[in-house]
Amino acid sequence: MKTTLIKEILVSQPDGRDVTVHGWVRTKRETKNLIFLQINDGSCFASIQVTLDRDAGIDPAILDELKKATTGASVRVNGKLVESPASGQAVEIQALSLTVLGEAPAETYPLQKKNHSFEFLRENAHLRARTNTFGAIARMRSQMAYAVHVFFQERGFHYVHTPIITASDCEGAGEMFQVTTLDLGGLARSTPKSGEDAVDFSRDFFGKPANLTVSGQLEAETYATAVSRVYTFGPTFRAENSNTTRHLAEFWMIEPEIAFCDITENMNVAEEFIKFLLTWALEKCAEDMAFFDARIQPGLIETLKKVVSSNFVRITYTEAIEQLEKNATAFEFKPFWGCDLQSEHEKYLTEIVYKGPVIVTDYPREIKAFYMKLNDDGKTVRAMDMLVPGLGEIIGGSEREENLEKLEKRITDMNLDPDDYWWYLDLRRYGSVPHAGFGLGFERLLLYITGMGNIRDVIPFPRAPKLADF
Ligand code: ATP
Ligand code: MN
Repeated sequence: MKTTLIKEILVSQPDGRDVTVHGWVRTKRETKNLIFLQINDGSCFASIQVTLDRDAGIDPAILDELKKATTGASVRVNGKLVESPASGQAVEIQALSLTVLGEAPAETYPLQKKNHSFEFLRENAHLRARTNTFGAIARMRSQMAYAVHVFFQERGFHYVHTPIITASDCEGAGEMFQVTTLDLGGLARSTPKSGEDAVDFSRDFFGKPANLTVSGQLEAETYATAVSRVYTFGPTFRAENSNTTRHLAEFWMIEPEIAFCDITENMNVAEEFIKFLLTWALEKCAEDMAFFDARIQPGLIETLKKVVSSNFVRITYTEAIEQLEKNATAFEFKPFWGCDLQSEHEKYLTEIVYKGPVIVTDYPREIKAFYMKLNDDGKTVRAMDMLVPGLGEIIGGSEREENLEKLEKRITDMNLDPDDYWWYLDLRRYGSVPHAGFGLGFERLLLYITGMGNIRDVIPFPRAPKLADF
């Protein structure tokens, strides 16, 4: 069966030829003589208008079908493609036949015409892609994923698939989902135990504790130090118990890792990458972006255009703290040198002080991961976080420590076991090179581009504390 998408029909000439479309009824409207159906198949934002003229005589079979063609019903329509007298659309279909493929009874179909709240639609996540907003988000997600690959593939990066199950804890911190085949239900009774309380992981599937990955970085580094430029793009899991509008328990992350690269070049790539993605959205997703601009965040397109043509501000953490201390009374959490930047601080820097994206570098080593390169001052590391207005951190990255002794010291200083990182240390033991990379949260990018307010609305089926439906 060769079907035509509404997207293709909408850009065709209204030459009166016969066309067939499939889709779901958005609305049905009747005047004395005319019946109008708006049919949408999600191939693009716009629906196509189908008209039936009572004066021209309508086949009784079609009238029967029309009764069933309520909002949400799926239909096949055949008719003539003609010029549309209505404004805002070039073509419409004068129906010759109409078949309802699946009904959507008005008494029970959850998505009637009226505007639903995002909360309600989250509870109906299996149907929400049929709405304007979530159809647009679905197309944007797909387009932006494509753009990510184009950006890296055009620049000599290789796409590497890092494992989802891992026995190494990248950040040396908690917040991981454990993967086990041990019987947790009967933990108290039957799970094998080696000591008094300890679980005997030698009898678990992998013979040791294993987790879902929180980052593919360490594995990506092994490939960057072999094929020079790599990126990962895959699901990432963090069991952080933070019920925020910016955190998911399962999200997608893009992690480029670049050999023979320092922190400055790393920032250049990150900035170029974000500008490339925004430009892609503005140029290739114009119709969906016009919707977000009109209905989700007025002024969005202007703002993103300005970002594309601006130079991102780059400041050190120390300078950021100085800025924040000048206005210390404005914050619930008083800023001081050594503190982690809170979301109120990130907001202040990006929205009030610099009014645009800001890259903050050289954080205190205590608040950053063990693999970040130590600066000569011995106090700070070559970290670089990109903060954006309305959102805060969108990218976290660093130049990596390539000196074996320094890295080993950092690992032991942080009470990690160097034996766990033997293969990671080998990258410094043999043919070590300066290298750097960063992580971009794909959903944070989508929040930024669409102007949506809640990260649970830019992924099809969000996972968060107490939320794993569908
Ligand atoms: P935050 O301080 O916002 O929790 P982070 O410092 O934990 O972020 P990184 O470990 O640097 O983040 O991860 C790299 C990127 O992954 C972040 O800049 C962000 O875009 C994204 N990210 C991190 N945690 C989450 C999450 N729970 N849900 C969605 N995206 C996330
Ligand atoms: Mn975090």
